[in-house]
Amino acid sequence: MQIAIDGPAGSGKTSVARALAQHFQCLLVNTGAMYRAVALGLMRRLKLSDIQIEIRPDERVLLNGDDVTEQLYTPEIDELASQVAARPEVREFLIAQQRALARDRAVVMEGRDIGSVVLPHADVKLYLDASPEERARRRCHERPNQPYEEILAQMRARDARDGVGFGRLQIAPDTIVIRTDGRTLDDVIAEAVRAVEAALQRRSTSGKLNG
Ligand code: C5P
Repeated sequence: MQIAIDGPAGSGKTSVARALAQHFQCLLVNTGAMYRAVALGLMRRLKLSDIQIEIRPDERVLLNGDDVTEQLYTPEIDELASQVAARPEVREFLIAQQRALARDRAVVMEGRDIGSVVLPHADVKLYLDASPEERARRRCHERPNQPYEEILAQMRARDARDGVGFGRLQIAPDTIVIRTDGRTLDDVIAEAVRAVEAALQRRSTSGKLNG
């Protein structure tokens, strides 16, 4: 089974993906963390072809064997990851690894281009969305030392960059869009679980599941 979850920064997709992976007993693949780890590797002057990324079941991220999880979620890496993700060779490098992870096992994969590019045959495609203001407010809780206005400005800049080029943030036609403004996480998770269950029901009566 393949569940694809896409959406912009701060839309809640990581929390929803985590809950779905637990509920449906799938491997969780956070592709944003992979772009962040590549950004950190390039910042450390590693060659792309020498970069090895491992995401552990407990979500720790290893870059060439080093646990770099704590270093990936900073304003600097937010910007750099979004910039390096625009490079075609970086996307090719990571998309191949993402597809390999989804081969022969059930996955919940979250990112920007999962339903449209990485796993176009996913059993279920969800797209989580919320206004930039709402997403910036959520990010404020995670980054209490950064002012709201600054987070909002960075969020808008990142949206603009993430929205263009190489298949990022395209919504595939068979995608279920979930708006999360003003809703609790539990409420959104419950809707996502229902959407997956309904899609799986339909697929199981009409054909085979992936993985
Ligand atoms: O999801 P997250 O904010 O951690 O992603 C970091 C950056 O990686 C995004 O801003 C985006 O530029 C890039 N990304 C991407 N394609 C994905 C996942 C993330 O381009 N599938």
